[in-house]
Amino acid sequence: MPDAAELLGPAAAAGVHRLAIPTPFAVGRVNAYLIEDDPLTLLDTGPNSGKALDELEQALAAHGRRVEDLGLIVVSHQHMDHLGLVSILARRSGADVACLDALAPWMASYSERMEADDRFAERMMARHGIPEDVRYALRAVSQTFRAWGAPAVASTLLSDGESLTLRDRTLHVHHRPGHSPSDTIFHDEGRGTLLAADHLIKHISSNPLINRPLDDASDGDGERPQALVTYLNSLRATRAMDDVSLVLPGHGDPFTDPVTLIDERFALHARRAEKILGIIGNRPRSAYEIAQDMWGNVAVTQAYLTLSEVLGHVDILLNDGRVVEEADAQGVSRFRVTA
Ligand SMILES: [Zn+2]
Repeated sequence: MPDAAELLGPAAAAGVHRLAIPTPFAVGRVNAYLIEDDPLTLLDTGPNSGKALDELEQALAAHGRRVEDLGLIVVSHQHMDHLGLVSILARRSGADVACLDALAPWMASYSERMEADDRFAERMMARHGIPEDVRYALRAVSQTFRAWGAPAVASTLLSDGESLTLRDRTLHVHHRPGHSPSDTIFHDEGRGTLLAADHLIKHISSNPLINRPLDDASDGDGERPQALVTYLNSLRATRAMDDVSLVLPGHGDPFTDPVTLIDERFALHARRAEKILGIIGNRPRSAYEIAQDMWGNVAVTQAYLTLSEVLGHVDILLNDGRVVEEADAQGVSRFRVTA
């Protein structure tokens, strides 16, 4: 297996530089990518913090560039560690901002959308048995986190299947929802390079968080989005892509051979679905009870992650007809194995 330096070298020779920007989150640093082309392009920015901006400026300077030189800022998805600095960088540089068409309204009204997303998550947690004190604590945490992101206005809207053409390269734009509803990956077919953001990361399995859909007008009263099922479909589409010899992800090191990694993820999720089927066993359980059986009492900040993890796999079992969902008198969903 080639190491990170061996893979970043050829990427840099093709004008793509990884800039690892600090975040306050458990995931650690986030990768922004500087693309030496015309216009000078930055994919993702890091969170909205002085420290992130300072390190980004230093990283640009190491390549002989300044924020003011940027001509295009591309956003991979809606998470704050990727888009937090977009508006500041765009204002200082006058750069165009490009993102998936469906993401643009969400990004423009970031605060309101985050608020609505939190209400959606709260309802989801109540429906699946998460105690009230945990829900309130999580809400407070989420509100303090929100300032790591910021609203930003897109000037270029990208649609799935379209290309983004720079002077020296063409990046094919693919919508790959699952990790978030807006995940977008950029494929340089000529060079066999895939800028995958958080769709595919080597050292961690991307967690498909159950998120309010981008176009949700009902404010979350609709059917539960099947985030993991959506994600696995997106992985299938990526697995079928030809000409990917190098993946540059949103966190951690670059890697080759995405097909092997994707197959490992398929196997992991299949195993987990079987394990959850065993836990549900012979008595109906809420998703919260299943999560407790899997991981015990997790930190409050992990409560929604683990709920999403359980529901994602339960969705697979539901779709296969191996489990049914029934609400109890309090409106809490329980899952029961079919005979
Ligand atoms: Zn993300």
